[in-house]
Amino acid sequence: MPIKTAVQPKKHLGQHFLKDLNIAQQIAQTLSLSGYKHILEIGPGMGVLTQFLLEKDIETFVIEIDKESVAYLQAHFTKLKDHILSEDFLAFDLVSYFAKEPFAIIGNFPYNISSQIVFKLLEIRAFVPEFAGMFQKEVAERICERPGSKSYGILSVLTQAFYEAEYLFTVPEHVFNPPPKVKSGVIRLRRKQDYTLPCDEKTFFTVVKTAFGQRRKTLRNSLKSFLIGKEHLKTESLFDKRPEMLSVSDFITLTQWFS
Ligand code: SAH
Repeated sequence: MPIKTAVQPKKHLGQHFLKDLNIAQQIAQTLSLSGYKHILEIGPGMGVLTQFLLEKDIETFVIEIDKESVAYLQAHFTKLKDHILSEDFLAFDLVSYFAKEPFAIIGNFPYNISSQIVFKLLEIRAFVPEFAGMFQKEVAERICERPGSKSYGILSVLTQAFYEAEYLFTVPEHVFNPPPKVKSGVIRLRRKQDYTLPCDEKTFFTVVKTAFGQRRKTLRNSLKSFLIGKEHLKTESLFDKRPEMLSVSDFITLTQWFS
């Protein structure tokens, strides 16, 4: 097979290739915890970030859905060897692949599946102590947002229930090929020491999703179905609020009341 000189960006795969090496290096440096054996990069594309990850003293794996990018990486990154997974991150069973050993996740992520990437992270949180990378700015902000803000929502509460979330820096449009329509934001998530919740976790997810499903209503209205048979709770002042005013621990309190 002839060696590819460059991958043609494909819109349906959310491909915006980063051109700025300084920014790529800065993103690679955001991962800094110890306690895991592997780093997994989602969507390496042509490897702009990968080259800096390979300088680290830790085994790097990449997962890429685009066959053309995979061929490019195989040709240009001999150091990766058999560490290139030609797979869909959302579908692949990483926990089995890494034999239940902890791994960190990093990437300049495909923006068309941003929320799905975060939800998949939350599913496998027991194996992922650290996660860092770039999303469209709005999503990056939403993940790290605190109560009281308009963009505080499901992604913020569910992520921050298990991880400390930090918004690190903003990246402009023109450093990508092709430039995206929006600015980007780099974030870092570090799993909390104690990341089990003191309430039923399944109910917690349902309560958060239900409350924000009708974010303009007070919780007394949006969570009506949870209050059936629990009339005594109705006078609690927490129910006068709208979901964007509640902290993670408020949602835990609600879940404990409902269980
Ligand atoms: N990290 C590279 C590419 C970013 S573009 C850079 O900074 O230049 C996003 C990348 O994610 C693309 O290479 C795209 O093919 C890949 N991608 C899109 N959906 C994916 C999925 N479901 N699983 C794995 N990779 C995916």
